[in-house]
Amino acid sequence: MTDQTPDRFSFSISATDGKARTGLIRMKRGDIRTPAFMPVGTAATVKALKPETVRKTGADIILGNTYHLMLRPGAERVARLGGLHKFMNWHRPILTDSGGYQVMSLSDLRKLTEEGVEFRSHLDGSKHMLTPERSMEIQRLLGSDIVMAFDECPRADQPRDVIASSMEMSMRWAKRSRDGFDSGEEHASRAALFGIQQGALDQELRKRSADALTDIGFDGYAIGGLAVGEGQEAMFATLEFAPDQLPHDRPRYLMGVGKPDDLVGAVERGVDMFDCVLPSRSGRNGQAFTWNGPINLRNARFAEDQEPLDRRCACDTCATYSRAYLHHLVKSQEILGAMLMTEHNIAFYQQLMQAMRDAIQGGKFKEFAAKFRSDYFSK
Ligand SMILES: [Zn+2]
Repeated sequence: MTDQTPDRFSFSISATDGKARTGLIRMKRGDIRTPAFMPVGTAATVKALKPETVRKTGADIILGNTYHLMLRPGAERVARLGGLHKFMNWHRPILTDSGGYQVMSLSDLRKLTEEGVEFRSHLDGSKHMLTPERSMEIQRLLGSDIVMAFDECPRADQPRDVIASSMEMSMRWAKRSRDGFDSGEEHASRAALFGIQQGALDQELRKRSADALTDIGFDGYAIGGLAVGEGQEAMFATLEFAPDQLPHDRPRYLMGVGKPDDLVGAVERGVDMFDCVLPSRSGRNGQAFTWNGPINLRNARFAEDQEPLDRRCACDTCATYSRAYLHHLVKSQEILGAMLMTEHNIAFYQQLMQAMRDAIQGGKFKEFAAKFRSDYFSK
């Protein structure tokens, strides 16, 4: 047995198949198998699941939201309580976003300047300022393992010059994020920092953004500004070039994606990491993902269906409970319905990621993707 201290951050690719890659990120709090799906734990909880259940689904890492946590319970409070891992009882890696995206989508009365974003909380109207430096400080106070650079994510349907100047400011913010992160001595010695590529659907702007980020240097690179309403076709068209513009030896993270078929298409185009609220949010709304496509448990056709949600699924919900019982729970708005459905959906996503990792390792990703689509869209 070797006594090796895990690296601060390393990424190794064990196999590629076409553009798809599988590998391993190693961090002090644990390994992350890629391609990886990160369940979203917005407010220091993956809604409706205990952390041990999240782990049991196969998740190696979860995501926490800076915007929500800074407002409630507050980053300084989480730090006084020993950090986010201890606070929520999840001791594996946590990636935190920078807060930039949610300030834009959730808060009131925003004022955007070169310095940062001033806004009012959607909870109580209190006034806050987020800058690259403050975002790095908050993510440090939370004890994040993978810290995201602070950026602005403009709507993709705006004029090119608006997208370009926003991207350029995000690149200046990326440098300030790098400097802010690096000044966090102890935390900087055990955490990683990812930069975020912007440029909407524009190949040339994406290239300029990728070059600016690569010059600064990050542990990993996210593809931002997609999954904001542009549609799958436009997203895939952008993914034909965006991942290739980023360093090949670093993980590439597509933020906020997505549906199971989005994940397969993005892995096919060279993406390594994902996060999305879809499996947990859908679970609470009565929708289950299966290898044969999504099903809505509110539908009366499940009222006496004694089958599990998915015969191929290895989760505890499918091992124990029928569609008929879940239909009843969902219709009755029982809390257990949200819990069991969320557990299945997150477990399904993790099984999908494992199947993709196995297919890439075995050099059979193309066959896997074709079979996945023919089953998933069979109805
Ligand atoms: Zn299941």
